[in-house]
Amino acid sequence: MKPTEKPTSTIDTSAMSAGQRAALEMAEESRDTRAVSGFASSLFMGAPDFGKVTPFTRQSREDAQAGDAFVDQLGEYLKNHTDPDAIDRDGEIPDAVIDGLADLGAFGIKIPKEYGGLGLSQTNYCRAAMVLGSHCGNLTALISAHQSIGVPQPLLVFGTDAQKKKYLPPCAAGGISAFALTEVGVGSDPARMQTTASRSDDGSHFLLNGEKLWCTNLLKSQYIIVMAKTPTEEKPHATTAFLVDTQAEGVEIVRRCHFMGLKALYNGVVRFEGVRIPVEDIVHAEGKGLKVALTTLNTGRLTLPAACIGLMRECLDISLRWCREREQWGAPIGNHAAVAAKLADMAADTFATEAMVYYVSALVDADKKADIRIEAAMAKLWGTEAGWHSVDETMQIRSGRGYETADSLRARGESPDPVERMFRDSRINTVFEGSSEIMRLFIAREALDPHLRRGAVVIDSRVPISGRVTALIKAGLHYSLWFPSRFLPRDAGIPSGMHPILKKHMRAIHRASRKLSRRLFLSMLTNGPKLERRQLLLGRYVNIASELFAMSTACARAESISHDDASDAIGAHALQTTDYLCHRGLRRISGWLKESRKAPDSKGYKLAQELMQYGG
Ligand SMILES: Cc1cc2nc3c(=O)[nH]c(=O)nc-3n(C[C@H](O)[C@H](O)[C@H](O)COP(=O)(O)OP(=O)(O)OC[C@H]3O[C@@H](n4cnc5c(N)ncnc54)[C@H](O)[C@@H]3O)c2cc1C
Repeated sequence: MKPTEKPTSTIDTSAMSAGQRAALEMAEESRDTRAVSGFASSLFMGAPDFGKVTPFTRQSREDAQAGDAFVDQLGEYLKNHTDPDAIDRDGEIPDAVIDGLADLGAFGIKIPKEYGGLGLSQTNYCRAAMVLGSHCGNLTALISAHQSIGVPQPLLVFGTDAQKKKYLPPCAAGGISAFALTEVGVGSDPARMQTTASRSDDGSHFLLNGEKLWCTNLLKSQYIIVMAKTPTEEKPHATTAFLVDTQAEGVEIVRRCHFMGLKALYNGVVRFEGVRIPVEDIVHAEGKGLKVALTTLNTGRLTLPAACIGLMRECLDISLRWCREREQWGAPIGNHAAVAAKLADMAADTFATEAMVYYVSALVDADKKADIRIEAAMAKLWGTEAGWHSVDETMQIRSGRGYETADSLRARGESPDPVERMFRDSRINTVFEGSSEIMRLFIAREALDPHLRRGAVVIDSRVPISGRVTALIKAGLHYSLWFPSRFLPRDAGIPSGMHPILKKHMRAIHRASRKLSRRLFLSMLTNGPKLERRQLLLGRYVNIASELFAMSTACARAESISHDDASDAIGAHALQTTDYLCHRGLRRISGWLKESRKAPDSKGYKLAQELMQYGG
């Protein structure tokens, strides 16, 4: 790079391998360039702004009323007209069920009424996902892939009026859509994308060529949003998002894919051979495809923790019933401490995931363009891991009966609790729409942003030395005040009238956040650019901040519940659950802090690399 050229990313990629550089530069180019400013990022900076979570924004009466009728109808419909075990057994969703859901408006929950949708809020959409998630993983995936990542969501954010008029009404009426990013060589790394689209000589259209893997809803879809490379000389990794009609010439559904769970997922491989796409069907703009995908996923990935809330509620229901009913060793199994602890964990996980999902949904409802990137990613990471933990513990509580299929239990005359199906169906939640590992990297990158904006230039070998020295002096001055101030307790906006138990936890959250910010800063100093490679260390910092986020939103929600019109018993239960959640959270955090100093990460890494080289 010439000394006068401005680096394209904040991070110095000059010493990286070509593949790593391409992946990182592409991710950097598509990042939201706004400075992160939400509550979650303040946790990393040791200055949690509790004024952003308290008072907790509960769904307004009007918004709740607007959603109640649909959410109730959906629940009734699922209960009376669908059989999740049959859907799982047959690997098919009956057409009548898809039609019935379309009649309810379930394919256009967030689509505005003017385009034929229900025009409901993000909060009501998440409530619907909770209902679906408690009932059937296959139906959850059908509805959510269509609306969270399929055509409606990106069009609501980026679509032109003409695109909205053309595509949203059929989508709302049940014209199913899908999202195609993944390829054989592209999982978490879109820089490897092979699907391309090239502009015609007259500039009126693009020709799309390539193959996409694991496209959910593909076999039932009318439209797909497809990511393809549209390289230019300046931007060799440029991607563009296209609206593709599955009936267009050159679109071929190659095969259906089958999985461990979600047996009725209409997921498959799709091939594009010279598919002609008019320029009007570009979403947002040429070269902005990855931005479309990442922005879509920011809000889209909230559906997964919302669905996990439904799953966790169901797990808790099944577990509680069995814990009361099943007696072993002279007592109901729920009276044995080892089993009781699982119930407490499930209740705390459910309450905290609800708090996070409602909190982030309220931010979206207040401002469609709100910056929720860290908060939504934390809700996805924490909520899907909690969901998986709950279903795993339910399997343990139900034990032999957890492992037995619902059909087999039914045939023996026992309660056909579908734990085995729930277990299979939910394992994928920590993988798709951003695996847990990628979520940790994503959150860490965003969390480091305020420091990178000040300090990255200092160690960036691409910047002339004079610029680096100036940046060093400026950063030195800033941090000579900033770092010591992270030791000082400050007024963080904890409401004075808050319940004493919650107030105590909020103070502990503040202390832990200050400690986190100091550790993170010292890690940056000692590791320099190599910090980016210390994934386990960064992962622990992300775990700490995510735990603090879960605790903070839960405290705020418990305070609001105990003050509002809820009964005393509900208020007391919210307090008790949050108290347990926070005690458990602080214990976890202290473990991660200890590990961040003492864990044998480098020994483990060396062992793994030797295994990679010499075999098992
Ligand atoms: C049932 C199902 C439905 C799906 N639906 C869709 C869909 O509708 N549309 C679509 O486009 N895709 C879809 N996918 C693809 C899904 O999003 C990908 O599986 C996911 O992105 C992970 O990609 P991968 O499986 O290729 O794993 P890889 O990216 O190959 O990753 C393998 C492992 O390495 C880890 N890893 C990768 N890179 C890093 C890194 N830099 N640092 C640390 N760890 C790393 C990952 O976390 C993972 O554990 C679906 C997949 C499934 C199974």
